[in-house]
Amino acid sequence: ERTVQRIAAGEVVERPASVVKELVENSLDAGASRVAVSVESGGTEGIRVRDDGVGIPADQLEAAVAEHATSKIGDIEDLDRGVGTLGFRGEALYTVGAVSRLTVRSRPPNAEAGAEITVEGGEVGEVRPAGCPAGTTVEVDDLFYNTPAREKFLKRTATEFDHVNTVVTSYALANPDVAVSLEHDGRETFATEGNGDFRSAVLAVYGREVAESMIDVEWTPDEANADGAAGDAVDDAPVQRVTGLVSHPETARSTRDYLSTYVNGRYVTASALREATLDAYGGQLAPDRYPFAVLFVEVPAGDVDVNVHPRKLEVRFDEEPAVRDAVETAVEEALLDHGL
Ligand code: ADP
Ligand code: MG
Repeated sequence: ERTVQRIAAGEVVERPASVVKELVENSLDAGASRVAVSVESGGTEGIRVRDDGVGIPADQLEAAVAEHATSKIGDIEDLDRGVGTLGFRGEALYTVGAVSRLTVRSRPPNAEAGAEITVEGGEVGEVRPAGCPAGTTVEVDDLFYNTPAREKFLKRTATEFDHVNTVVTSYALANPDVAVSLEHDGRETFATEGNGDFRSAVLAVYGREVAESMIDVEWTPDEANADGAAGDAVDDAPVQRVTGLVSHPETARSTRDYLSTYVNGRYVTASALREATLDAYGGQLAPDRYPFAVLFVEVPAGDVDVNVHPRKLEVRFDEEPAVRDAVETAVEEALLDHGL
């Protein structure tokens, strides 16, 4: 089957974390103020994402799980707008339904009753009435159950959960106004308050010790151009803003997993950004130690290429040296402000 082959190529659904990513994006697109993610066995046995967003009317449930079904304005320009929008391809639910047992249960806030639909290995069932709170709950059981060599796709439970945790954490930190929670095998991993305060989200995700060691980063190009360049020069600058938090060099870990970078609000992996951050610490980090960092970089939309990687996490910059410089300077100045 075509879809299964595309998935085998890792194009759309690579692992539980990629499913979680699509579902959380849908919840955010739906304007949710709460997004609760819970997974079983790293997501290999079950994934549930519940939100309090706009919901899906019963008569649109079937369309929502169909191929190329999207209610979102998506045209070719979205591809160029790049990191601004979340999903727009109308493929996520369809693809997940092809390789799992998928249930979508929903009630728009103004609807009296909810409804649900189930897809099993691509077989779409009937829409049935269902009692449920306002919003949408998506359940994905037995991911890849009908895929040849299921084991080939799935690593150890702990590894899959690490990836899920990274995804949910990245959305929680980028959306402090949304209460995001994660549960693994019935135990809460973290829950943010959704009170709009970025530091409070960092506290919820990384704990008090890390949160208290975090130093504010705030950089804009006018500071860099203290020689008087302003106006147009600033508007055209390859980096418009760098903000976020970085940890004291003594609050470091043996993994790079806690270096989170966002470009124009979107979580990305860009080695240039990580390296620039580490460079800013100079010799202050112990060998093989990495800081915590959550950095938001704003660049002109046309200057970033998001299509390097099929899952659009890896990005490339037209003006990479300038971006690298800006991030390094931003972090350096923040550390200097704290006598570091
Ligand atoms: P896309 O997000 O690209 O539109 P998806 O397959 O992810 O495609 O979702 C299909 C459609 O189902 C969406 O366009 C939206 O109308 C609806 N939908 C999916 N998840 C939700 C949700 N959590 N809340 C409200 N509507 C949703
Ligand atoms: Mg989507």
